[in-house]
Amino acid sequence: MTIPSYDKLFIGGEWVTPATDRKIEVVSPIDGTIIATVPEATEADIDRAVAAARTAFDEGPWPRMTPAERAVYLKRIGDEVVKRIPAMAEAFTNEIGAPAAVSNAFHDNARKMWGDSSTLHERFEFEEERTWENGGQGKLVREPVGVAATIIPWNGPVATASLKIGPALAAGCTVVFKPAPEGPVSVMMLAEAFEAAGLPAGVVNVVPAGRDAGQYLVEHPGVDKVSFTGSTAAGRKIMAAVADRIGRVSLELGGKSAAIITEDAPLENVMSTLVFGGLANSGQVCAALTRVLVPRDRQDEIVSAMVEAYRGIKVGDPRDEDVALGPLAAERQQQRVLEYIDIGKNEGARVAIGGGVPEGLSEGFYVEPTIFADVTRDMRIAKEEIFGPVICVMPYDTIDEAVDIANGTEYGLSGAVYAKDDATAESIARRIRTGQIGVNNWDMCVTQPFGGYKQSGLGREGNVEGLGAFLETKLMMY
Ligand code: NAD
Repeated sequence: MTIPSYDKLFIGGEWVTPATDRKIEVVSPIDGTIIATVPEATEADIDRAVAAARTAFDEGPWPRMTPAERAVYLKRIGDEVVKRIPAMAEAFTNEIGAPAAVSNAFHDNARKMWGDSSTLHERFEFEEERTWENGGQGKLVREPVGVAATIIPWNGPVATASLKIGPALAAGCTVVFKPAPEGPVSVMMLAEAFEAAGLPAGVVNVVPAGRDAGQYLVEHPGVDKVSFTGSTAAGRKIMAAVADRIGRVSLELGGKSAAIITEDAPLENVMSTLVFGGLANSGQVCAALTRVLVPRDRQDEIVSAMVEAYRGIKVGDPRDEDVALGPLAAERQQQRVLEYIDIGKNEGARVAIGGGVPEGLSEGFYVEPTIFADVTRDMRIAKEEIFGPVICVMPYDTIDEAVDIANGTEYGLSGAVYAKDDATAESIARRIRTGQIGVNNWDMCVTQPFGGYKQSGLGREGNVEGLGAFLETKLMMY
């Protein structure tokens, strides 16, 4: 398949000519070639998109429909997304480098998210009667917060966008959506799904662009709510940028999630989720299990099992069926990960496997799946998000110390505890300050509340908790 290029932006329900001829060149991480172009939205395009969303919110039918009426459109969007999943998944493989299995799984998540959003009205009371002392009575009415700016990274863009835009639309908000420049093609296909679903004009507007345009959008006075997914560093800037106007903001940020393996956890129950949880999408997953906390006397046994599992993983061109691990998404990303590998070596961590560019794969942006053993909590590789296929194995002496290490970063997004039984694993999991955690398991569930403690974010996405982020609450008193 050739990856389609685009020359228009989706604004106000139409494909419109951008204000300038600036283009985003989509670089294939497989071989570094340019495979498509997409228009780069500039400030004038963002003004136009915000104006369209503003008009659709202030004057259009969308916020005035009942939740059940909006759900009909959400179901239609879900159907249109499903039709496009094969093309979206293929574009994502080519622009970001995820093998088909990963790409298909991510896009299947998008299907689940639209299923979740289109049924929210059946599970959520938008209005309820309230009574209080001295005969007080009234109605609590949940209303859409207004124009929502949704900004996402490149590592799973259709799913990440769906997780924001679905609940925003269910709430009755209108949306300006800014995808990242690294992987814009699959999300332009999502824009086509919005168009095909027949949403009223201006309800969703799509403006691919980089950081400066993102900052401009966040600061825009026409925006009532920012829903952001990306790095913690950018999240901090965005929170500061909306502070002056007390802007509503939800943040889904970075992670450094820990898997705790206890003294008596049978390894055969650990390996599949531990390996997938650490390496999926070449480790470019916010919830990845990147720290593996092991009893000191089991480190050799566990590292050997991990090394053996890693040896069986074929790294290479993600379009090949037997390849399980593709390249990193961009050259900048590859360089960043290789730098962290150097940092780990210099800090005295032991490379158990990997540690460089795989042999014969110097053309694209590949990095070997890498395990560092003997990692200590003071090392930078143990604290900072690497966002690549680099796993830190950290020995501990007591469960209290393991809990302390797991909680010892600025992040708190995901995690896992593996023990001899669920009750033991659960008692440890309850002590970890993180938004989701696996109990003798690991997963990333996006149709239930997903989000971070501490600097991994603010608020939750998914299900009714995600819907709440796009609502204001009004008490009407009688
Ligand atoms: P990034 O923060 O640099 O960019 C993410 C998006 O924000 C891009 O669209 C970018 O153009 C935009 N952006 C950057 N700075 C901005 C600013 N000041 N104002 C407005 N927009 C701005 O992140 P990245 O390196 O592209 O993506 C990887 C990061 O995303 C990792 O830290 C990862 O953990 C995080 N992430 C989090 C989740 C989650 O749900 N918690 C999911 C996926 C990725």
